[in-house]
Amino acid sequence: MLRQYELVDRVLDYDPDADEALLNRAYVFSMHAHGSQKRASGDPYFSHPIEVAGILTDLRLDAETIATAILHDTIEDTVATYDEIDRLFGGNVARLVDGVTKLSKIEAQTESERAAENLRKFLLAMSDDIRVLLVKLADRLHNMRTLHHIAKPEKRRRIARETMDIYAPLAERIGMYEFMREMQTLAFQQLEPEAHESITRRLARLNEGGDNRIHDIAEGLKQLVVRGGIDADVTGRQKHPYSIWKKMAERHISFEALSDIMAFRIVVESEEECYRALGLIHRRWPMVPGRFKDYISTPKRNGYRSLHTTVIHAENPVEIQIRTRVQHAQAEFGLAAHWAYKDRVRPDHQHSWIRDLVEILDTAASPEELLEHTRMAMYQDRIFAFTPKGELHQLPKGATPIDFAYAVHTDLGDQAVGAKVNGRVVPLSTVIENGDQVQILSSRGQTPQPAWLNLAITGKALAAIRRHLRHTQRAEQVALGRKLYTDLVERLPAQLGQDALGAALKRLKLADEDALMAAIARRQLDDATVMEALMPGAAGADTAAPQTSAISIKGLRRGVAFELATCCHPVPGDRIVGLRRPDAGIEVHTIDCRVLTELADRSADETDWVDLSWGDDAAGATARIQVQVKNEPGALGIVSTVIGAHKANIIALRLDTRDARFHTNTIDVEVHDIGQLTRLVAGLRAADAVNAVERV
Ligand code: MN
Repeated sequence: MLRQYELVDRVLDYDPDADEALLNRAYVFSMHAHGSQKRASGDPYFSHPIEVAGILTDLRLDAETIATAILHDTIEDTVATYDEIDRLFGGNVARLVDGVTKLSKIEAQTESERAAENLRKFLLAMSDDIRVLLVKLADRLHNMRTLHHIAKPEKRRRIARETMDIYAPLAERIGMYEFMREMQTLAFQQLEPEAHESITRRLARLNEGGDNRIHDIAEGLKQLVVRGGIDADVTGRQKHPYSIWKKMAERHISFEALSDIMAFRIVVESEEECYRALGLIHRRWPMVPGRFKDYISTPKRNGYRSLHTTVIHAENPVEIQIRTRVQHAQAEFGLAAHWAYKDRVRPDHQHSWIRDLVEILDTAASPEELLEHTRMAMYQDRIFAFTPKGELHQLPKGATPIDFAYAVHTDLGDQAVGAKVNGRVVPLSTVIENGDQVQILSSRGQTPQPAWLNLAITGKALAAIRRHLRHTQRAEQVALGRKLYTDLVERLPAQLGQDALGAALKRLKLADEDALMAAIARRQLDDATVMEALMPGAAGADTAAPQTSAISIKGLRRGVAFELATCCHPVPGDRIVGLRRPDAGIEVHTIDCRVLTELADRSADETDWVDLSWGDDAAGATARIQVQVKNEPGALGIVSTVIGAHKANIIALRLDTRDARFHTNTIDVEVHDIGQLTRLVAGLRAADAVNAVERV
């Protein structure tokens, strides 16, 4: 435990004008007030506020904050009163201690009690004076450091959970990364002991064998930068088990597959040197696209400034942060660093985010919603988006308009056809950004599409889409099964009796007709079995009888009962066959599809195939064509004009090869039938700029 004079000396060290008497009075008062109280560790209770004060001297905070830390538990845990503190230490310290006490009271409540209204108070107490939060965070950090002394595992877990959910995010929000990391490390150990153990063990194994890769890479970086004439400190470290674990969880990958576990930091004198060092590094090692971030020209909201990049070093991605010395101090201690240099503090700016949060709380309707908002706002992996009317919806990062639509209302989700983000029409696959205004375009006729399962990420949206698909899938399967059944009945050697179907259901132990149709469509029952059930003895006669007529896929939904194969891109009018896949729908191929031929060679059971026809008024399909155009300005423009003139829509366009004379492009066009496609291909062949056109 820090002695009285040691603590005072520390403060005087960085602030010679500090109120020494105030600190001495606080020390003595707190010692007497806590008296013989003991911590779980067996230490005198008084050691705790002194350690908390010690943590805050590392941040070079002013004497009032240090005194507050020393006194922070006196109102709550001893007979001392607000008035007493006010009289002895002044109004500022009394208010600060009171603020910390209020936070502690809220903290002591159960989760549900703490909900809603109290969280609002919690935030308001902090927004009053940010120093309350600094003391609270130091208090929590010390409690985490001594957590192992607490005997009850449930209590340890509760405190660790709270730290992970509330305090670490708060520390991050005010840029105190050093605090955040230590809290996460300690909480992680408590919450996921096995994961912590396993990652720590694997990291240790990586370090075995004497090869000091981190040291070598840091040396290499240093030499490179110094040779470029920049004075720099380079440090390297293995990432913390918690951040490794988070990455594994976020990207769903194993430890072995996780290659970037090292991080390096280059600290230089000036911003200009930061950019020069960056240039040297990028010229020496290839950078990983998408990982470069310039937080110097665009600081984070919490004031954080640095350059971030990731380069490939000896086949491994290596994360590098570059910053100035001043930026470095602020990156470790965030807002507290500002507070230490009082002249730089801008009270109106420094905790505007807390006020934002309070405002959000005020607009929330129910207590549950309130709690939800508070938590989520503190989470970095959440975004907020607005409806055109200004209604706020919070979504996980990576959410798309589909998620947003379902968040607003299930019906809106079901009927979504498109979206406008900030007034511009965007594809439904667009990722929504924080603060976006999202308008969902809907149509009564629309229903959830199977492809949406790849676009949505929220549980609510996925559940609604799946529910709907299950429902339609069943209806579609019954419809498809009925068509297959009709054909099968025609192939029976004799006319089917009136009760035959009912008897067959009994034999097959099926509940009703629909169940039979679905089973046929899903190929859970093969034709012979169904025929035998309908007409015992019939199967032996002629089960391999050819299909009597092509089965029309008219009226069946694409993506549910059948899918158009992506190898041959059949369009209405093409002669088609279907591949029946167990437990799925039918895959439709053109009759001359090469992939199909290969499949047929491998497939022993010929009944896997069904003859199909489009039926009339089939919906359009996507055809794939390859177009070779002359390498001259405007050639591709002419191609798209011709396609447009034939009222076909270009879905995708890819440049395959290009030489001095020609380029070859693969184009996916949406057409309604083979006639339109044939006219379109003829039109393209007629164009001067076009050398050749083939359907793929
Ligand atoms: Mn405390």
